[in-house]
Amino acid sequence: MRLLLGKELAADLRAVTAGRSAELRDTGRQPRLAVVTASADEATGWYVRSLASAAGKVGVRCDVVDLVGSAAGVLEAALSKLTEDRGVHGIVLATPLPDGTRLAALAGAIDPAKDVDGANPVSLGRIMTGLPAFAPATAAAVLALLDHHQVALAGRRAVVVGRSAVVGKPLAHLLLDRDATVTICHSRTRELAAVCVEAEVLVVAAGRAGLIGPEYVGAGATVIDVGTNVTASGELVGDVDPAVEQVAGALSPVPGGVGPVTTALLMRHVVESAAG
Ligand code: NAP
Repeated sequence: MRLLLGKELAADLRAVTAGRSAELRDTGRQPRLAVVTASADEATGWYVRSLASAAGKVGVRCDVVDLVGSAAGVLEAALSKLTEDRGVHGIVLATPLPDGTRLAALAGAIDPAKDVDGANPVSLGRIMTGLPAFAPATAAAVLALLDHHQVALAGRRAVVVGRSAVVGKPLAHLLLDRDATVTICHSRTRELAAVCVEAEVLVVAAGRAGLIGPEYVGAGATVIDVGTNVTASGELVGDVDPAVEQVAGALSPVPGGVGPVTTALLMRHVVESAAG
């Protein structure tokens, strides 16, 4: 079985981004990302730390705006203020959000030009209609990882587990754009294992540790694990049970698969935005 590691691709992406970032800083323009946090859970903390670390590697300034416990109106006002700030080039609203708060509603306050994680419904609409926009970094990272490891997509059966606006739906669309035949699954899907086992390319973004066991995977299939779950002991694990290695042809690990590519792509978006 092949391990689809993201480290090498992320390093390549970072090298190019760091060069462009240095050129911008030489002209007095410091690329800057603002990350707004609204919930205090472990996964958010892990994601924000990984963004700050990735930013530091490419000379992007990363400011964390801590609004944990704030009402939707406060979050929206903060996003609008950052949108107007000419010194900020990228804005990310970290998910998950508190119950009753919808990313799509709040992200409308982020100018699409600064929407480096493709969260504004305008960015998503542009992606779906083939117009230029920043794609959600995680969805773009899955495609970049598959391309880097030369996994063919055209005409192949792809199954995406998860239908969120940040990962599952845009990813399904990107796979469709690459001529895969795509099925999207979710928590109401009946006989999930029977659907997944038919996939030649299975992408899992459910946020449920160990959801996908070997019985969900067809022999030789490519499995991309997007899930990031923090266990009680503080360990980061994916949605795919490691025992899947016995049947899969290729598997992206957590950590070390999609994650580093996601943050590297997000920084590339920030620097592209700063370049104007
Ligand atoms: P989300 O908004 O909670 O969506 C989860 C999706 O999974 C939903 O569509 C849900 O179905 C589905 N689901 C949940 N349990 C299921 C089950 N038992 N069977 C089938 N489907 C199930 O999460 P998200 O923001 O898309 O993130 C998904 C995962 O990716 C999380 O672990 C997150 O931490 C991770 N993530 C990773 C990165 C990275 O760079 N690696 C970046 C972003 C997110 P319903 O729609 O029916 O509820």
